[in-house]
Parts: sequence; structure tokens; C-alpha cells
Amino acid sequence: MAFHDWGKELSNRLQAEWMMLAALSIVAAATVFAGLPLWQVALGWFFLAGVVLAGGRDRPRPPVAETARQPRERDLLGEVPSTLDALDVPALVLDREANILFQNDASSRTFGSLPTGAHISARLRSPAVLDMIRETLATGRPNQIEHAERLPSQQVYLVRIAPVDLPAEGQGKRLFLLAFRDISELRRLDRMRSDFVANASHELRTPLASLRGFIETLQGPAKSDPKAQERFLSIMLDQSTRMSRLLDDLLSLSRLELRANVAPEGKVDLVSLLSHVRDSLSPLAGDLGVSINLYLPPGPVEVAGERDELVQVFENLVENACKYGQEGKAVDVFLSAAEAGPLEVTVADYGPGIPSEHLPRLTERFYRVSVEDSRSKKGTGLGLAIVKHILTRHRARLIVASEVGKGSRFTVRF
Ligand code: ADP
Repeated sequence: MAFHDWGKELSNRLQAEWMMLAALSIVAAATVFAGLPLWQVALGWFFLAGVVLAGGRDRPRPPVAETARQPRERDLLGEVPSTLDALDVPALVLDREANILFQNDASSRTFGSLPTGAHISARLRSPAVLDMIRETLATGRPNQIEHAERLPSQQVYLVRIAPVDLPAEGQGKRLFLLAFRDISELRRLDRMRSDFVANASHELRTPLASLRGFIETLQGPAKSDPKAQERFLSIMLDQSTRMSRLLDDLLSLSRLELRANVAPEGKVDLVSLLSHVRDSLSPLAGDLGVSINLYLPPGPVEVAGERDELVQVFENLVENACKYGQEGKAVDVFLSAAEAGPLEVTVADYGPGIPSEHLPRLTERFYRVSVEDSRSKKGTGLGLAIVKHILTRHRARLIVASEVGKGSRFTVRF
């Protein structure tokens, strides 16, 4: 038994046998007055106290929580407490007056310990929830309502109350079960989904509106102006390319989401993969005046993964480094595969860098430090979200470090 448990056990025994110990002490005091030496009396007292305390140890005792409850309520609740304690949903049992008769373990963990016998309004102040409880107490019909708590943290619960009719041995009593299902995560996902649809529609609507505008101009004012026609057609081509890039990225994301829980098969050599990425991006880097430098170990470095997906990760990172770090003129790619440390690939640029407040949000869909800058560089705002999805599937992490004026380092740690 741990020292802590032993202490608890001793204090329980002292509480249970205090009358016996007090009687022993009175007898001991009397024998001292009668002339017996103090050390003999003390020895005898300790011996007898030990016998008393050890004697009742194996006697079955109700759990502490049970003893604290009023006997009338305990009889009424029967097997309900142990059943509700096994639930991971916070639940309270109320009487007809909405007083708390019982609170399960999940409820004490979530809301703290509530005094037995207190009215439910001592814990729940929401008028809507209290009205719902009142209605069920009056009509006996189950009810549920969504309820948001702001403190200590933002949580959304589906609060449900239903009557429970106890059998005849519970004196045919009716109690009420108030349960709190935490739906915060569900609501967060709903919000994310609707934000995503709103963002995607907005991103598609902008080039679509511009295409429509140019078509109308070509049909009307520019009908017989070949120079304007040529200019407008090239803008239209840009806009439709932007739309198809966005759709490609959206499809990529949804395909990745479908396979999020499927571990990648196969082995990939990062050394040859990074060389391939450099070769495929060198025309873009050349146009931007940037040189891509690789710092790789001499031999192959293998990781478990899917080649096409990892190519997409490093193409996105190196392309971003070339586009956004263009003024640094160089992009360095380091592969460190030392025995002692983790396997890492770092893509470093020496451009303007990213202010620190943006760093935690970079991998959110459609998050951009500057929307205008991203659009002018043919960005969709989905590149790093795709990177994050692929890396999660590969059990790898993206670590971003950046200093304004000095550049950024995007590290993939396998
Ligand atoms: P985008 O398609 O806009 O490039 P990403 O998801 O790839 O979208 O990147 C999100 C944003 O992160 C970019 O719009 C840009 O603001 C910022 N960013 C990404 N890489 C870099 C970098 N190397 N240097 C500076 N900013 C960067």
C-alpha cells in the first residue's frame, strides 16, 4: 500500500473507532491516577489502541462518498450512482424540486464538486436551461437544448433532461437525469466546413466575375478593337488558369483527407527526390533570378513514404521560398541525416521573412500573409495546408522559423 493510501486508511480507522479510543484514554488516565507508572500505562494504551485499529480493517465498509450521502437519498438512488459513474458523460440526478441528489464522476471532473441537496440553479445560471428543466419537472416529458459555457473555456453542450421512474422498491419515485453531451468539437468542425466552403466560393467567384466582365466587354465596347481583344483574352487565360489551379489544389486536399488514416506504402530516397525537385523548379527559379542550392549527403537517405506526395511537399516549399524569398537570390536545401539527430530537410530563403504572429496560422486553408502578394505570385493559399496534410500522413512535422528582414526556414522533421 502506498504511503498516501496508508495515511488515508489510518485516518478512516481513527474516525470509525474514535469512541473506543476515547474510552481507552479515560481508563488509562484513571490508572495513572491510581498510581500505575506512566510508561506502563502508555505501553498498554498503545497496545490496546493497535488491537482496536487493526481489528476492524477487513470489515466491509461503504465507500466514503456513500457514507456522506443521506440514507434516505442513498436508498432512493439504489444502483443508479455506480451505473452513472461508469459513464463518461457528465450527469446529475435531480429530485422533483430540481435539487441535486447525485453527481457522477465525469460531472465532478468537469464542473467541480457540487453540494448534494443544492438547487440546480446554484450551478446552472442559463435561463434557457433552467426553463427547460422546469418544463420537464412539470410535464414529465424529456427535453434537450444546446448550451454554451464560456468559462473556464468555451464549450458547447447538448443538455438533456429525462424522467427516470424507479421501481416499486424505490417507493415508485420519479427522479430526473440531467446529462451534458460535449458537442464543442462537432460545432468547431461545422464552423470550419462552412468557413471553407465560403472561402472556396469566394476564391472561385473573383476570377469568374472577372471572366464574365471581360466577355461582356468583348461582346460590347471592344467588339471591333483587336488590340483590346488581345489584351483581354490574355487576362482571361490567366484567370481561368488560376481557377483550374485552385480546383486542382482543392481536389488534392480532399483526396488527401480521404486517405488521412492510411499509412503510406513504399520507400523513397530523399537525395534523388530533392534533386528532382530542384530540376523541375529551376526554370521558375531562373525567371525569378534565384539559385537553388542542395546540401545533401553523398549516399541515398530512405524514408517510408509515397514519392509523388513527398515531391509535392518539397515542390511547394521550394517554390514558396523562390517566390516569397526572391529578393534573397538564393534558396538552400539541407538534408541532415546524422545518426544521432532526427532526419530533417530544411528549405531556407533569405527574403523578407514572415512576422511571428502569422507563423501559427500558415498551414490553415486560404491563410495568407498578404492576399494580394499571394495572388500576384499565382498562389492559392492552399499550398501549406496540402503540405501539412501529406506530412501528417507520413508521421512527419513541419517546423517554421522566420525572422523579418532575414528570411524563413521551413523544416520537415521525419
Ligand atoms: P500560397 O498559395 O498563397 O503560396 P501557401 O499555403 O503555400 O499559399 O502559403 C501561405 C502563405 O504563407 C503565403 O501566402 C505567404 O504569405 C506565406 N509564405 C509561405 N512561404 C513563405 C516564405 N518562404 N517566405 C515568406 N512567406 C511565405
